[in-house]
Amino acid sequence: MMQQNGLGKLAEEAGEMLQIAGKLVQYPELQTIRNVAHPDGTLLHERLEEEMGDTVAAINFVIAKMNLDTAVINARASRKLRQFKEWDEPVDKKVKAPDPEPDSNPMHRWGLGRGDKE
Ligand SMILES: [Mg+2]
Repeated sequence: MMQQNGLGKLAEEAGEMLQIAGKLVQYPELQTIRNVAHPDGTLLHERLEEEMGDTVAAINFVIAKMNLDTAVINARASRKLRQFKEWDEPVDKKVKAPDPEPDSNPMHRWGLGRGDKE
């Protein structure tokens, strides 16, 4: 049985995801090359996808167990994604991003916030 509403599993999976992110920061050439193995012999894109999937599953589990408000989470995710995109723009092209369409919500893309509290 999952303990502590899945919070330990969430921390574990997020930590595994962070480990892969750290490897990609250490080897920046592998950020853009999908099929070249890290010195540990693994393909980091595949591992990052797997650990992101594990983390999303853990997030969804904790949301359900703790009855968290997916509308709040989704709204926050949309604002944060908009901010990241603004930060990612070249300095000479800074413009205010339009408000996202309802279906552009990144949490929906990950299977969050569908069919429960919305
Ligand atoms: Mg994992």
